[in-house]
Amino acid sequence: MCLFCKINEKEIKSYTIFENNNWHCFLDINPSSNGHLLIVSKKHLVTVDELDQELWNSLHEVIKLNKENLINKLNCDGITIVQNNGHGQDIKHFHVHLIPKYINQPDKLSLEEIYEKTRI
Ligand code: 5GP
Ligand code: ZN
Repeated sequence: MCLFCKINEKEIKSYTIFENNNWHCFLDINPSSNGHLLIVSKKHLVTVDELDQELWNSLHEVIKLNKENLINKLNCDGITIVQNNGHGQDIKHFHVHLIPKYINQPDKLSLEEIYEKTRI
């Protein structure tokens, strides 16, 4: 089983912010900023080509929900969305990064602190 499949199965701990039947959203262990979130497919898929239309539509809903949640809870000024395929994708299990952007860079909070502020 790959690392993100193990996290989905709760064999490895993560800070889960939101989950539903298709998606597991948890904090990145090495965040680029406070609130850096990964939206990870429950199914072991690797690249964007492997999503069908239904999954793609559900991803859009989950992105919007989590984007608003991060903005409301962390008062960030923007959200950058990144999704790597092939070279540049370290974990070969489909995921989207939501990276909060701040005009005035705040002090770095612990994952525990971010979890308490942002879990849905
Ligand atoms: P990629 O380069 O595949 O798009 O991004 C993989 C991301 O997964 C990186 O930002 C990295 O910090 C994160 N990551 C790697 N291992 C773990 C882990 O064990 N737990 C969590 N929560 N994130 C991880
Ligand atoms: Zn996997």
